[in-house]
Amino acid sequence: MASINYKAKGVVFDIQRFSVNDGPGIRTIVFLKGCPLRCQWCSNPESQRVAPDVLFDASECIRCGKCANVCPHGAIKPENPGHVHRDICVGCGECVGVCPTGALILKGEVSTVEEVIRQLKKDTVMYRKSGGGITLSGGEPLVQWEFATELLKACKAQGWNTAIETTGYGSSEAIESVIPWIDYVLLDCKSRDTNVHKKYVGVDNELIGKNSVHIAELGKNTIIRVPTIPGVNATEEDFRKIAEFAKTLSGVDTIHILPYHRYGENKYKLLDRDYPMGQIKELHAEDVEIFKDILEQYGFKCLIGG
Ligand code: SF4
Ligand code: SF4
Repeated sequence: MASINYKAKGVVFDIQRFSVNDGPGIRTIVFLKGCPLRCQWCSNPESQRVAPDVLFDASECIRCGKCANVCPHGAIKPENPGHVHRDICVGCGECVGVCPTGALILKGEVSTVEEVIRQLKKDTVMYRKSGGGITLSGGEPLVQWEFATELLKACKAQGWNTAIETTGYGSSEAIESVIPWIDYVLLDCKSRDTNVHKKYVGVDNELIGKNSVHIAELGKNTIIRVPTIPGVNATEEDFRKIAEFAKTLSGVDTIHILPYHRYGENKYKLLDRDYPMGQIKELHAEDVEIFKDILEQYGFKCLIGG
């Protein structure tokens, strides 16, 4: 049995129970902070920094000024209460603790492996009965790879099935540490065009391509997921290129199409940021059927959603 550091600490911004979309069975999703990518359609912008973030809902604010009075770093000015100077804020949460209306919400908390496992244990019976388990998500879980490794080792010690949602962007050290503890890898593939990738994701796709091959060779159940975004990759040509690439990945036989949605739009407002996708309309299942047909022609099992 591998030794486990139950005192290892990481920054977790959410734990969601009863998910049926992020791996087999009914699962609990542990969301880790930090992501090196900046996908313009990101629906979890509060995950991007590793440090905790404060969301501010101006519609709930009564301008009492308590947040500005208590902030030890001067990140909220008395003349503009509630508005956080994000370059100064360290995510200590003092302001959230004194806000009387819930206008300030802390996203991200330093937790130990032991604390997270205690929460996950609530659903042990459900994991067993449904064939489910734990999924690590983010952000990009490979950013906090040392914490992720200890957490996964602890999940395995409980006998739980494990999955990871990853962009594939991380060091080989992180991949070799984390992936051996995983049963299912849900691996993103956004675009095979490196210039398009750099423009809309913030990094080129060279490292991700190399890591995708590496991850597939580690012999886990690997499912490719394609966030399908108008103006970025929602064309037949893009899907043919993605299918050709997926054909080179050892053991991959399933691709999930994730149609673009705008669920994260309001969070940008709460972070005082503009929504990068402007007015681009959501896609629905019927809009991406054509891409499903293409992937099936290449011999892949294909699911819309997932
Ligand atoms: S989280 Fe801490 S540093 Fe950030 S604004 Fe609130 S009190 Fe200030
Ligand atoms: S403490 Fe809450 S309600 Fe009061 S000014 Fe700050 S954000 Fe607004």
